[in-house]
Amino acid sequence: AQTLTPLRPKKKLKVANVHPTGPGSSKQAAIQEQRKQLPISRGRNAIIKEIRENDVTVLVGETGSGKTTQIPQYLLDSGLARNGMIAVTQPRRVAATSLASRVALETQSNLGSLVGYSVRFSDCSSEKTKIKFVTDGMLMRELLGDPELERYSVVVVDEAHERTLRTDVVLARLKEILKKRNSSQTDVKGKGKGKEREASGPTNPLRVVIMSATLDAEKFSSFFGNAKILYVQGRQHPVAIYHTAAPQPDYVDAALRTVFQIHTDQPPGDILVFLPGQEDIESLDKSIQLYAKRLPPDTHNILTCPLYASLPPAHQQQIFLPSPKGTRKVILATNIAETSVTIPGVRYVIDSGKCKEKRWVGRGIGGGFDTLLTRDITKSSAWQRTGRAGREAAGSCFRLYTEEAFNALPLSAEPEIQRCSLTSSMLQLKCLDQNLEDMEFMESPDMDGVAQALTTLYLLGALDDKKKLTPLGRQMAYFPLEPPLARALLASQEFGCTSEVLSIVSILSSSSKLFVDTSDTRDAARDANSKFRHISGDHLTMLNVVRAYEEVLQSEGGADGKKAPKAALKDWCMRQYVSHRCLTEAFEIRAQLRDLCEKQKIDWKVSCGDKRGEEQAILRSLVRGLVQNTAFLQPDGRYKQVMGRSIIKIHPGSSLCDKKVPAVVYDELVYTTQVYARGVSAITRNYIAEVPVTNHRGS
Ligand code: ADP
Ligand code: MG
Repeated sequence: AQTLTPLRPKKKLKVANVHPTGPGSSKQAAIQEQRKQLPISRGRNAIIKEIRENDVTVLVGETGSGKTTQIPQYLLDSGLARNGMIAVTQPRRVAATSLASRVALETQSNLGSLVGYSVRFSDCSSEKTKIKFVTDGMLMRELLGDPELERYSVVVVDEAHERTLRTDVVLARLKEILKKRNSSQTDVKGKGKGKEREASGPTNPLRVVIMSATLDAEKFSSFFGNAKILYVQGRQHPVAIYHTAAPQPDYVDAALRTVFQIHTDQPPGDILVFLPGQEDIESLDKSIQLYAKRLPPDTHNILTCPLYASLPPAHQQQIFLPSPKGTRKVILATNIAETSVTIPGVRYVIDSGKCKEKRWVGRGIGGGFDTLLTRDITKSSAWQRTGRAGREAAGSCFRLYTEEAFNALPLSAEPEIQRCSLTSSMLQLKCLDQNLEDMEFMESPDMDGVAQALTTLYLLGALDDKKKLTPLGRQMAYFPLEPPLARALLASQEFGCTSEVLSIVSILSSSSKLFVDTSDTRDAARDANSKFRHISGDHLTMLNVVRAYEEVLQSEGGADGKKAPKAALKDWCMRQYVSHRCLTEAFEIRAQLRDLCEKQKIDWKVSCGDKRGEEQAILRSLVRGLVQNTAFLQPDGRYKQVMGRSIIKIHPGSSLCDKKVPAVVYDELVYTTQVYARGVSAITRNYIAEVPVTNHRGS
C-alpha cells in the first residue's frame, strides 16, 4: 500500500458541531473556536489584503481548509462588500444550499436573511442578504437582468477546478465586466458622475475571487492577466491506499463487501463511499440495510446517509451530524463529496472509480440534449477521494480497481465547454448581445458544439438565419428551462394547451424520474401503471399521473379543503410505482413556471380539456421544442432519427416499447449497449412537417 505524505505534522482538529445554537451558547462557542482552528484562519489578514488590492485573486487550498465557509465571512467583516452583496458560486445545487445553511449557522443568523442561497426553482434570500450562495447557472441567469452584476461587490467563483460550462462562461463574462466596472478612466455611459469617477475611481468596483481545490491555478491566473495566486496550507494525515488484485465487474457489490469488511475488522470511524449516481446509491443503501440486519447482535450499528445532487435540503443535515454512540456512519455519495462538501468523521474511503459525466454525443446523434454517462474517474478525482480519508486522522482508502487501472486513468477531465451542449448558454449570451463563438474563454469551445447549438437555436426559432436573436428566443431565455422545453411551453399557447404542457414540462425538468424503473420491479410497475397508460405514449401517461396525483392531493385531506397528509401521498406513490420526490419537485417547478407565465402575460390556465384528441394539441406543442428528438419508422421495423443519422430503439421502460408507430418524439437518448429513446410518444409525420423554421425573422 502506498501512503499519502502529510503536508504538515498531525494536529488535532475538533469535530464540527452542527446543532442549531443560540448566541452565546457553548455550542456556538465551539463553532467559533473551530472556525479559528481552520487552516485558512491564519492567512485571513493577508488574504483580505490581497483581495482588497487586486481585481482578481486566485485562492488554492485543500478541501476542508475553510475556503468556502470562511472567505465570505471574512469579506463581509472586512467591509469590502459595503456597497453590494457577495456571491459565491457552486457547480451543484446541493452544495449551494448546504453551505448556505452552514454559514448561516456560523453567523448566528436565519437562513435567508444575512446568508441565503438561490438555485434554479428555489430562492432563499431577502433584501437583508449579504452573502448569497448561487449555482453557477443561477449567476448566469442573473446576468440577464443585471448584465454587469452591479448588485454584487464580490463574486467568489468556487470549485473553479471543476470547469463546468457555466463556470467557464461566468469567468469569461467576469473578465469583461471587470474592464467596464473597474477602470477608473472610462466613464460608464449614462451614469452621470463621470468626473467624480475619474477622480476617485469606480464607486462600486468588483472584486473577483477564484477558488480551487487543485493545484492547477496558473490557468486561472494567466486568464486574468497573471492574477495573484494564494496558497492555503492544508492538513492531511497519511492515508493507506489499497487497490483490488483483480478488476471488479460489479462495483456496487464490491462496495457492499468492502463496507462490511471495514465494519467488522476496523476500528471506529465513518465510511465514505463514492458512487457514480443516485441509482447506485439507492441500491447499495438497500443492500447495506438488508445485510446489517443479519450481523451478530454484538456488532455496532450501521447508519447509511445518501448524498447526491437532487437530495432535498431537509435530508442533507443528517450527513454532518456526529454518528450516535456505537454506530458507524456510511455516507454514500456522488463526486459532490470530492471537494464541494466536507464531511467530518470520515476515516475510510471506498472509491468505485466511477462517476457520471455530462456529455453531448456527436452532432449526428444527440440533438440538443446532454446525456449522463457513467465513466471512469480521473487521477485527480482519485486523489481527491483518497484525501477525504485523512482529514482528521490517519485513514484508509479502498480503491475498487487495480493499480494498473489507476495508472491508466487520464490525469484530469476535459472542461465541459468542450463536451457539453452549448445551446442554453449560447441563448443566454445572445440576450446579453454576446456571441459565444466570439468570446474569450479559458479554453475555446469545440467547433462542432458551436455549430450544433446554432442549428438547434435556429430550428427552435430562437435565432434567425442571420444568427440574430428573435423575440421568441428572448422569451425562451426568460424561462429557466432547457430551450427545447421552453419552446414547447411557448408553442402550447398556439394549441390551447398551456396548462397540460406546463405539467409535462415540469415533470421533465424535475431532477428525478417519474416512473420508478428498475428491471426487478418492471413487471409490477407495469401492472400498477397500466391505468395511467395513454395510447399515444409516455407524455400523456405522465399527464395522467399528474392528474391522478392532483385528485389525491385534493381528496385525501377531507372536506375542508385541507391538503392530503404527506404520508398518504407517499403511500399512494409507492403503490403506483411513481416517484413522490419527482412529483413534489415538479409541482414546485410548475408553481414557479406559472408565476413566470403570468409575468409574461401568458395565460397558463388555458387547457385543452380532458377530451378525446387532446393529445394532438399537446404533442404538436412538444414537437415544436423537441423537433430534433424525432424519428421515423423504417420499412425494416427500426426507427431512424429525422434530423440525425442514428438508428434508435425504444427504451424497455417506455409504454411504446413493443409497438410500431410511424413516427415518435422522445425526451432523451440513453446510451447503453444501444441507443435507446426514453420518454416516447407516437406522433404523425405532419407534426414535424408543420414546424416553422424560417418565419421568425429579426428582433
Ligand atoms: P473548503 O471550502 O476549503 O473545502 P469548507 O469551508 O467547506 O472548506 O469547510 C471548512 C470546515 O467546515 C470543514 O472542515 C468542515 O468540517 C466544516 N463544515 C463545513 N460545512 C459543514 C457543515 N454543514 N456542518 C459541519 N461542519 C461543516
Ligand atoms: Mg469549498
